[in-house]
Amino acid sequence: MNLHEHQGKSILKKYGVSVPVGYCAESPVTAVEMASNVQKETGTKSWVIKAQIHAGGRGKGGGVKLAKSLDEVKTISRKIIGMQLITPQTSNEGKKVRKVLIQEDIFYPGESEIRELYVGVLLNRSTGRNMIMYSPKGGMDIEKVAKESPELIFTQEINPSVGLQAFQCRKIAFDLGLCGTAFKNMIVFLEALYKAYLESDASLFEINPVVKTSDDKIYAVDAKVSIDNNALFRHPDIANMRDLNEEDPIEVAAGRFDLSYVKMDGNVGCMVNGAGLAMATMDIIKLSGGEPANFLDVGGTANAKRVEEAFRIIIKDPNVKAILINIFGGIVRCDRVAQGVVDAYKNIGKIEIPVIVRLQGTNAKEGKQIIDESGLKAHSAILLQDAAELIAEVIS
Ligand code: GDP
Ligand code: MN
Repeated sequence: MNLHEHQGKSILKKYGVSVPVGYCAESPVTAVEMASNVQKETGTKSWVIKAQIHAGGRGKGGGVKLAKSLDEVKTISRKIIGMQLITPQTSNEGKKVRKVLIQEDIFYPGESEIRELYVGVLLNRSTGRNMIMYSPKGGMDIEKVAKESPELIFTQEINPSVGLQAFQCRKIAFDLGLCGTAFKNMIVFLEALYKAYLESDASLFEINPVVKTSDDKIYAVDAKVSIDNNALFRHPDIANMRDLNEEDPIEVAAGRFDLSYVKMDGNVGCMVNGAGLAMATMDIIKLSGGEPANFLDVGGTANAKRVEEAFRIIIKDPNVKAILINIFGGIVRCDRVAQGVVDAYKNIGKIEIPVIVRLQGTNAKEGKQIIDESGLKAHSAILLQDAAELIAEVIS
């Protein structure tokens, strides 16, 4: 689960990472109110207004703006709230901005020594270890730095049995080009950041930029945070931060019925029981010339109700030109699944797209018979090879 910047920062703050003072607003009027609250607390005369969406690159898309007066806070917020923000990380339609973060500007006027650094904590899946990735050249062009001067991107991997070590923090602070008070503050920053990452069961805490001010303070100016969904039950406070507006509506609907669904870009929808079979089914679809439109595992209990819900979810995707149902009847009986398919057709009404039902295992023959005799526009198969040929036929 991804978090908004302000949510990520609230976690960081709890762990003692310095973050600029800021509050959220959903209207220009509240934005001005929040700006004056920030001013009362910090004395700042300028604010940065930041669109809260689940995508980076907001600066480049016009979603991060500096305001030098309360009037400007109002006009800029009016522009940003409600806009479709398009950034290098969103689709072409962009994302609707519902909230802005009004934050003290920590880039003091005339500041010449400001340094934007990059620090991220993430899981290195190939070694199975957490690591800190960092660069002295942070800021909006980090992707360009990674591409053109990869020698400026460093990593430190953390041994899980001993945790983040003091010498590693010193090495990082040194590589980032810091000394004196800034060096010491960076060590405190790193320890707190890593603790926040670990204790939240996160898979990413990316801080870009980390800012070193001329008075040697270290601030997390941005925060991109992902939490491991499987650990959310341990963090009800974080689970509450979920923003359904930011998620794919079809995936949200699938989650409600405990269906594992991941949307993809292809044209053949699939409904399968078991993740391994689902992967194999997607391979078969590709081999027969189609592209999978989704991954969908209805799970071990593929009963009629779940089959129907899965159907409804698959046909929500307008790209789907055919559906392949591939169920292996181990505990599940194929004739029951077949009946589920027939019922789903009746309950949903018009299903115009061709459906190929491949049932194998317990009562496969009876299942096939039910489909064949149903009078529906559904094709049946027992062998996967036959199902693949049917797909090739209907999508060609
Ligand atoms: P992103 O573009 O979505 O990654 O959003 P960021 O929060 O990283 O902001 C983009 C850029 O805006 C940063 O790299 C900074 O250069 C600038 N920026 C962010 N916060 C402030 C601030 O408080 N004051 C000023 N002057 N610039 C800021
Ligand atoms: Mn950023």
